Amino acid sequence: MISLDVIFLNQLRIEFGKSFKANWFDERIKALGVENAYFPMFVSSRVLEREKDHIEGFAPEVAWVTRAGKSELEEHIAIRPTSETVMYPYYAKWIQSYRDLPLKINQWNSVVRWEFKNPQPFIRTREFLWQEGHTAHLTKPEADTEVRQILDLYKGVYEELLAVPVTPGIKSEKEKFAGGLYTTTVEGFIPTSGRGIQGATSHCLGQNFSKMFNISVEDPAKPVDSKLGVQAEKLFVWQNSWGLSTRTIGVMVMVHGDDKGLVLPPRVAQLQVIVIPVGIVASTTQEGRKELYDKTEELAARLRKAGVRAKSDLREGYTPGWKFNSWEMKGIPLRLELGPKDLANQTTLVVRRDTGIKTPFSLDKLDEEIPELLERVQSEMYERAKLVYDQHRRIVTEWDRFVPALNENCSCVIPWCEEESCEDSIKDQSAKESAVEQDERAPSAGAKSLCIPFDQSVYPKLEIGVTKCLGYGCKKDAKAWTIFGRSY
Ligand code: AMP
Ligand code: ZN
Repeated sequence: MISLDVIFLNQLRIEFGKSFKANWFDERIKALGVENAYFPMFVSSRVLEREKDHIEGFAPEVAWVTRAGKSELEEHIAIRPTSETVMYPYYAKWIQSYRDLPLKINQWNSVVRWEFKNPQPFIRTREFLWQEGHTAHLTKPEADTEVRQILDLYKGVYEELLAVPVTPGIKSEKEKFAGGLYTTTVEGFIPTSGRGIQGATSHCLGQNFSKMFNISVEDPAKPVDSKLGVQAEKLFVWQNSWGLSTRTIGVMVMVHGDDKGLVLPPRVAQLQVIVIPVGIVASTTQEGRKELYDKTEELAARLRKAGVRAKSDLREGYTPGWKFNSWEMKGIPLRLELGPKDLANQTTLVVRRDTGIKTPFSLDKLDEEIPELLERVQSEMYERAKLVYDQHRRIVTEWDRFVPALNENCSCVIPWCEEESCEDSIKDQSAKESAVEQDERAPSAGAKSLCIPFDQSVYPKLEIGVTKCLGYGCKKDAKAWTIFGRSY
């Protein structure tokens, strides 16, 4: 078993040798001026229901505390599904002047969403750990800039730490965050199931919440002039919220895992190298055994000194083969085998978890070569995942090719009109044509929009006013290449 909290913290921490150590995401948001804080998990219904669209979106998933012990509560209390409504009454108090802006607060916490749609470990759970950032700005351009800065960091978490490729883009109106202005996302894809997965989201909330919670300042661009009788103009602040959850772990597990179990990218692996003594036989003396065990631990200690997260497995009563399997199942990136013959030759056999490739390494340069190899494993894992990711994405310009592509576990990039009704008919029609038994509780066989990629330049040129939408029965002009697919 792997412990969730350890992985969650580790995925955001990256340690390169001795010289560089950082809490990857936390440090980067702090550099943007974000401060960490903590707010309560309970919300009164009065506050929760203040923003109409928001609560409409979340209402079905809100869990309520209705009883304490045996007594019914007079007023039921909600458990936060996200903290906009918990935090913003305070923002209204704290933001009194444009000089109080920008306000940037993040919390590392858990939230509860009573998901009815196929709960799945890590991917969609009823309680999940995440960070949620909430910021307030004077202008929309400032808010827009931050939305993209955060999205870039999310892309970094997936691609640089988890070795998982994602596509940054914007969500359709139908799929955007309830109550927000627009939602940006990094979209991942699980090739083995042929399903897209929303990796993390950075929302511009616009002024909807600031109007509901009365978070306003006097507009500095329109100053008061008492002589001329000019009154101060009220400006509602521009807000963003952004979140990345333990779903990241689920995506990483599904993208890299194989039939033997987990395959962890070295940068996030809590343990990067396991050193195992081998080659002990019936005739091995007590001293010989002790020497081998000492050298094994010495090797692990040497690697730790070189900044590698390494450990030796000196447990008695388990064969080397049993140990190999158990560490393979846990996804430890490298296994080093050390036996009497290796000691005599001053070598160790290095086995990669991701490829299974075995290479003898000379002991003398390990301090440099193992960190280098770990970085190579990291980048090759990404490259391989990217290749498969790209192979599972089709540019589709004829409806007849759409569902067959889905059935081959691909997502489809189509010219799209961006209309909600069109999105609905794509979903219905693709579900109908899928000819898959639709189980109520299984994810849908129909395709929905995953995102409109920011980088449109990688697709053929869309001729605005000429290229038509691919949507089923739709004849409208296409606005942008959009990724559609089955999803989690
Ligand atoms: P949201 O603020 O609703 O956009 O959520 C932020 C991020 O949390 C999403 O982009 C998902 O990656 C993740 N997320 C949403 N719901 C769940 C869930 N039930 N379990 C795990 N992660 C989730
Ligand atoms: Zn259309």
